Amino acid sequence: MEIHRIHAAIGSRVRVAAAVAATLFVLQSTGCQQSQPAKTPADPNKNEGSATDFKTEPAVEAHLRWLARHQDPDGAWSPDHFDAQCANKGECAGAGYPEHKTGATGLAILAFLGAGHTERSTAEFTDAASKRVIKIADVVRNGLQWLRNQQNESGSFVESNNHKWGYNHGIATLAMCEACGLTRAPEYKDSAQKAVNALLAGQSHGNDDDKALAGWRYQPKGEMSDISVTGWCTIALVSAKSAGLNVSDKALDGAWKFVREVTEERNGQVGYTKREEAGQQVKAIGKNDTYKNHPSFAAIGMCVRALTQKNMKDPVLEKGALLLAGDPPAWDKVGKSNDYYYWYFGTLALNLYDSPDRGGGGESLKAWNEQLKRSLLDHQTNNRKRCDDGSWDSDDRWGYEGGRVSATALAGLAFETYYRYKNAPAAHR
Ligand SMILES: [Zn+2]
Repeated sequence: MEIHRIHAAIGSRVRVAAAVAATLFVLQSTGCQQSQPAKTPADPNKNEGSATDFKTEPAVEAHLRWLARHQDPDGAWSPDHFDAQCANKGECAGAGYPEHKTGATGLAILAFLGAGHTERSTAEFTDAASKRVIKIADVVRNGLQWLRNQQNESGSFVESNNHKWGYNHGIATLAMCEACGLTRAPEYKDSAQKAVNALLAGQSHGNDDDKALAGWRYQPKGEMSDISVTGWCTIALVSAKSAGLNVSDKALDGAWKFVREVTEERNGQVGYTKREEAGQQVKAIGKNDTYKNHPSFAAIGMCVRALTQKNMKDPVLEKGALLLAGDPPAWDKVGKSNDYYYWYFGTLALNLYDSPDRGGGGESLKAWNEQLKRSLLDHQTNNRKRCDDGSWDSDDRWGYEGGRVSATALAGLAFETYYRYKNAPAAHR
């Protein structure tokens, strides 16, 4: 049985939304705003020219099946030991670093939420590889419960001494905020608000002259910021705000000032931690230094800029879009151009900037999406008898870090970008 996709779930949510009085009561009682579907894959007119299309739907379903099959019994996704869940041992390669467990779990949950699945989903499927009947509601519920089990007194999903605190906590916070917005469940609202508070408390100090000039970094309360972690944390806060949670405007103002500080406005390039690095590649020697450089930071900078400033006429956004147009997704393992992280943020940036639903012309987005489909659809593992069916190989630029779980989640999220929900910052509003 195929996963009974989101259409029914979306339909029921729309019907629920019609009961205005009841909905308002629930909203007030939980303080968590319900999100409506931004658009659905069932509406071909809305898909036209603005994003991906029906060809990507089987790919999204298949990647969710793979993720569901490789969830740990306790609800987490393990970057390094996900293969312990394999139905056929030895068929799924691509271990990442264990320190990314919370972030990888957040990405996997986002992939389900992004397709409209919550703990109330009625979808289930008999897994062809393992022969197990998997209920999507259990997958989402257990994933979110695992995150809540990790949450400490300060609201953080990982301890502050985790080497990649900013990534792990930022992504997990985004997942909890989207769960809050989609379900209005009080337990998610409570967890998401605590997580937001920890994110706000962990914002970097900025420099001495301007305390608001701050984003986020690997460690909480740092003296510097980087655009990559800042991207995830900013998106999490914007999602939180959309879900009705309390978010300090000063924090988002700090992110805006930081992105402006590290952007070379002449060409739209963005530096990792400072403007002088704009256009330069961040390399991990011996790990990914032979990979092609992409304007990943320009894409993330576009997202932060668009979400905090909300001025789509900003000329820097146009320059960023030109950079992305000059380097669209291109699957080339030999040429070392594969980079799911860049492809995900590039898709998000162009959806925010160029989607016709948001006032854009749509041409840049359309061209990007054609290349995205060409790169990902033909290279997703497609063999229902194999355990790696539905996943993507993680030998890309950052695969040594996130492994097959993160690679597969990011690739699927790129395809989901055009119909994620209102509280998902990628969504059309
Ligand atoms: Zn497997």
